Amino acid sequence: MVIAIDGPGGAGKSTVAARCAQLLALPHLDTGATYRAATVAALRCGADPGHPEAVLAAVMGAAIRYESGQVWLDGEDVTDATRSAEVAAAVSAVSAHPQVRRVIVDLQRAWVGAHGGAAVVEGRDIGTVVFPQASVKVFLTARPEIRAARRAAEEDPAALERRDRFDASRETSPLRPAADALVIDTSDLSVEEVVATVVGLVLEDGRQTSCD
Ligand code: C5P
Repeated sequence: MVIAIDGPGGAGKSTVAARCAQLLALPHLDTGATYRAATVAALRCGADPGHPEAVLAAVMGAAIRYESGQVWLDGEDVTDATRSAEVAAAVSAVSAHPQVRRVIVDLQRAWVGAHGGAAVVEGRDIGTVVFPQASVKVFLTARPEIRAARRAAEEDPAALERRDRFDASRETSPLRPAADALVIDTSDLSVEEVVATVVGLVLEDGRQTSCD
């Protein structure tokens, strides 16, 4: 059972995913953290983020591990480094390369498998590409000014908007809702209201599955 939570930056994915995971007693995978760790690996190797071969070589040579919101690169905790402005500026370019995505998507699927096959997974392409069979799919959105305000402490609004535009327009796995995802505009909702909707969908899905 996978609960896929997709959407752009500042839509509320991380907060909602963490709370849903806690309530449902499921592990939580933030796939953005895995792309950010790949970006740290590429930058440390001096790879140009726009250069597919150089980035792929750096990512293939890196051991990325994710657990409970923290990420390690070759055994070193790089969680803080993944949140730097330098990484935010390069992560969209790094994650646009199809071969890089293949490596990271394998890692994400293996992570869910190793955690028992059930998880709350947040990202951009979870419902469309990584887990198209997910039991529940939601796509969170919010008005641009709300998303910018939520991310204000971490990212300049113009940089966030640029990253979202780039993620939505890339050729491989663009940011977009799956056809069967419930789209929720979180602009005027509390975290608990969004969480209640997602958990409600999970419970409803469980009831249907047990009656099949
Ligand atoms: O969610 P977060 O802001 O940490 O994601 C950072 C970047 O990683 C996104 O802007 C996007 O370029 C990439 N990403 C992706 N696919 C995912 C998750 C994140 O391409 N499933």
